[in-house]
Amino acid sequence: MAKYVYDFTEGNRNLKDLLGGKGANLAEMTNLGLPVPPGFTITTEACRYYLAEGRVPDGLQEEVERHLDELEQAMGRKLGQTDDPLLVSVRSGAKFSMPGMMETVLNIGLNDESVHGLAKQAGGNERFAWDSYRRLIQMFGKTVLGIDGAHFEGALDRLKGDREDTDLDAGELQGLVETFKGIVHEQAGREFPADPREQMRLAVMAVFDSWNAPRAILYRRQERIPADLGTAVNIVAMVFGNCGNDSGTGVAFTRDPGSGQQGVYGDYLQNAQGEDVVAGIRNTIPLQDLERLDKRCYDELLEIMATLENHYRDLCDIEFTIERGKLWMLQTRVGKRTAAAAFCIATQLVDQGLISIDEAVTRVTGDQLAKLMFPRFDADAAKSRIAKGMNASPGAAVGKAVFSSERAVELAGQGEDVILVRRETNPDDLSGMIAARGILTSRGGKTSHAAVVARGMGKTCVCGAEELEVSIEERRFAAPGGVTVSEGDVISIDGTTGEVFVGEVPVVDSPVVEYFEGKEAVREDDSLVRAVDRIMRHADEKRRLGVRANADTPEDAARARRFGAQGIGLCRTEHMFLGERRRLVEDLVLASGEEERQAALDALEPLQRADFAGIFRAMDGLPVTIRLIDPPLHEFLPDLTDLSVRVALADAGAGEASDKDRALLTAVKRLHEQNPMLGLRGVRLGLVIPGLFAMQVRAIAQAAKEVPGARPEIMIPLVAAVQELEAVREEAAGILAEAGVDALIGTMIETPRAALTAGQVAEAAQFFSFGTNDLTQMTWGFSRDDVEAAFFSRYLELGMFGVSPFETLDRDGVGRLVRLAADEGRAARPGLKLGICGEHGGDPDSVHFCHEAGLDYVSCSPFRIPVARLEAGRAALSQNDSDTR
Ligand code: ADP
Ligand code: MG
Ligand code: MG
Repeated sequence: MAKYVYDFTEGNRNLKDLLGGKGANLAEMTNLGLPVPPGFTITTEACRYYLAEGRVPDGLQEEVERHLDELEQAMGRKLGQTDDPLLVSVRSGAKFSMPGMMETVLNIGLNDESVHGLAKQAGGNERFAWDSYRRLIQMFGKTVLGIDGAHFEGALDRLKGDREDTDLDAGELQGLVETFKGIVHEQAGREFPADPREQMRLAVMAVFDSWNAPRAILYRRQERIPADLGTAVNIVAMVFGNCGNDSGTGVAFTRDPGSGQQGVYGDYLQNAQGEDVVAGIRNTIPLQDLERLDKRCYDELLEIMATLENHYRDLCDIEFTIERGKLWMLQTRVGKRTAAAAFCIATQLVDQGLISIDEAVTRVTGDQLAKLMFPRFDADAAKSRIAKGMNASPGAAVGKAVFSSERAVELAGQGEDVILVRRETNPDDLSGMIAARGILTSRGGKTSHAAVVARGMGKTCVCGAEELEVSIEERRFAAPGGVTVSEGDVISIDGTTGEVFVGEVPVVDSPVVEYFEGKEAVREDDSLVRAVDRIMRHADEKRRLGVRANADTPEDAARARRFGAQGIGLCRTEHMFLGERRRLVEDLVLASGEEERQAALDALEPLQRADFAGIFRAMDGLPVTIRLIDPPLHEFLPDLTDLSVRVALADAGAGEASDKDRALLTAVKRLHEQNPMLGLRGVRLGLVIPGLFAMQVRAIAQAAKEVPGARPEIMIPLVAAVQELEAVREEAAGILAEAGVDALIGTMIETPRAALTAGQVAEAAQFFSFGTNDLTQMTWGFSRDDVEAAFFSRYLELGMFGVSPFETLDRDGVGRLVRLAADEGRAARPGLKLGICGEHGGDPDSVHFCHEAGLDYVSCSPFRIPVARLEAGRAALSQNDSDTR
């Protein structure tokens, strides 16, 4: 028969799945010989059964009774016994801590009779007994009977007036018990159950039920905690911190969770029960002051904290209670900490000989590192928040609001800090985005143009702040509450939280970025940077995955190298056709014959050659994967509406339109597509527009000859069939051979068909690079320019997925295609080089996936490179652990 109940002496910390974190750690402390009140744990398995079947499993009741018997024997008193009662707490405790999400009831076993027994037990302390009783009815009423806690709190407040709760005497508390019973009667339509066993049984079920409370569901979704784990229930003999001034309760950390510093960090509250500390009923005192109040307990506590740190080999947090000079431990767990503390603690533990450097690397995460890399707002500063959008690219930026890229460039040129505010951005805004400190848009999701480009540049961005009404024409935006921000007004945006503030919020810089940028001095005088440095070096030593950068300019390439990139995995060429060069693309599109078209291409070629040479120089002998032009050509042409209006006005005699305008209008109409992302782009352009790819390949070859040691790799986008690849490869190979240049020719795998036919595609490709943005778009059928803003928040709410598949690679679907293509590609061509160059290349969970799938490298935006290096190291060190939470 299944075993549903474990005594604290039976469990241990490895049984979190079954006993929950609290139960497993209470057992661990018990077995370490620490002073834990006796008790037992009902398993998560029992909870899962209860939630599925709507009743507790057969045999559970008897098993609980048996353990209760043992507990009663150990304590020498019976639950709720009239003259000398045993009281217990009934406490939730899931595998992952969900602070404040679940329920606990203290003082179970009290009723109108046993309350007198409790007073007698405590040497006639009536006040203490009635205080415990009112607490029971309050917690039971709220938790088990579902009564709004405000009813009880209100009654308590009215009774207190401006006194503390400790000033209430026994008579007043006895009166409060009557009041509380009245509230139960009125609000729940039933009496408070006097039978101790009934109290316990109902409390256990209430804890089970709390697993599915709406706030618990929401919390799990946010923290990506699986919904089907259930919670354990701990039944613990009560110890009392509310017996008088020789008693109390507290919480503590074994070291500072903010910085990792060793020392005494905690709060203590005299004459109180545990929940008072968190509820903030009275002001706590610093734990250090306990030394003055009760030196013996204080010393014992510090000793226990040292024992726990050594045992868990990590920062722990604890809950404890002192009952009339006797210390009791009520909870411990490995404690949460800030990103900075995580790095410091990990290396401190190495120095203390508690963990290996291997383990230190697994103890920190890429997300934590990313947090350390962005400048941030001073947490103590006063702020006035006007809106909240999506946290698209982290960091803190302050500047004058500007509403066009030209104005951004102009003001930045005069040394001003500006924030570029747009409804949404497009490729023409690039110069403005580069000039700005940060970018704010009122439309678009986390993979909108603004978001992707900003992340690539490591620039702060808040996007989709839909509460803002942006008027580009009037150069201002309106925020809720009647706030208007006009051009030149200073605003502050927090890309880590998505918040928008009016006025200047002070910013602090990241020393970690200065260190990655190569400022040696930072390492000398910053202990956090020293910790990061140690961990990064070790991660680099251990990782198997290479890390490359997505970089399109020599500046980006240079930064990527400083950040540790081992090459460029994706150099996009489309931005090289913007600005001045648009004219040449227009000529290309308007060319009426072979000769005109070639002339336009000939004009582009030297410009491209210079572009590539710059990047080869910046990478100095490292491989550079250049993707031939990918987006549909109309992206380089004037807007259809603009052109139509201009021509129509001219026709009406109200303006002027050149012959070129008219020709362009015809061309734009001709090139117009309903689904441009599925239209004439990528390899299709290369096949349909003669000479376009050839021009690019020639430019690459010439640039490679110009820069000694250059290692170009030519990448063909959007291939779906090997035939496409073969056709362009043949032409490219011919050009390279003629120029006497050696370069790999490979393909992106970003259509499902390419993945499904990878064996064939590999015959014509020297490498694969998974373009997981498009692959996700086409596998899910999600238009990534639309769906995120349109309904992803609803999808997340509905639990259709825990995280956007554009953010973290969808292992089950897209990941399956990647694995299949990797395996079949390598079967057809042993040693085939495999990489990934979507946004996922810098996402921690996706990096682990790439490691597991056997890819050779990930490529990501320059600012994510340290994150990818760290996660690749972690993946190599924790081969079987895909849980990066
Ligand atoms: P949470 O998970 O919200 O912290 P707990 O189950 O830890 O809830 O309990 C809430 C408070 O009650 C804590 O401060 C805890 O220390 C205290 N507490 C729980 N059980 C007992 C007990 N048997 N005796 C005294 N205090 C207890
Ligand atoms: Mg607790
Ligand atoms: Mg693509």
